[in-house]
Amino acid sequence: MKILIVEDEPKTGDYLRQGLREAGFVVELARNGPDGLHMGLEGGCDLLILDVMLPGMDGWRVLESLRRQGQQMPVLFLSARDQVQDRVKGLELGADDYLVKPFSFAELLARVRSMLRRGRSALEASTLQVADLELDLLRRRVTRAGRRIDLTAKEFGLLELLLRRRGEVLPRALIASQVWDMNFDSDTNVIEVAVRRLRAKVDDGFEPRLIQTVRGMGYVLEEPR
Ligand code: CA
Repeated sequence: MKILIVEDEPKTGDYLRQGLREAGFVVELARNGPDGLHMGLEGGCDLLILDVMLPGMDGWRVLESLRRQGQQMPVLFLSARDQVQDRVKGLELGADDYLVKPFSFAELLARVRSMLRRGRSALEASTLQVADLELDLLRRRVTRAGRRIDLTAKEFGLLELLLRRRGEVLPRALIASQVWDMNFDSDTNVIEVAVRRLRAKVDDGFEPRLIQTVRGMGYVLEEPR
């Protein structure tokens, strides 16, 4: 997890960088607005900690510019001011949280961790979909063309794996280890039988057929072109 800190006050910047490194993050530090913007635009940042008052360009403008150019990482604003208007302005510009100086490192770390958790769960969609096939991870439900399909737990796990790695040929050994939690034994045709049953439920009576066998290699789920 990479965190970018934009903070001009040397003590605060160094202190945050060291603390976050010790907490296991990869940390980059920019000491003014333009550098922060530049580093933020390079991408690959999972979270941004942004001071409001910065030389060259204030934190609001940095954030505005990052958002305009498509950077969606969560942003935690740091500010010495505790003005309601500042808070509102930051949130309107797309900041996710706000911390008023002075703050304790423990509080910052707690906010950072919770923002990263929220960010991940928002990114991790609760529905996987290919063509008209839909798998709802939260409700453990599968539908095709709006029709409910009943699957066993293993079939559900197999379909989830195929959907998560759609377009990739998955070898039987990989399926065995991921879904059955077992080492592949070439004598068993457990995977073949399971795929056949899954395919009968998911593909029979529907167009197009989504689960394909790749001879000698494994299985792939994809929408044929
Ligand atoms: Ca400052």
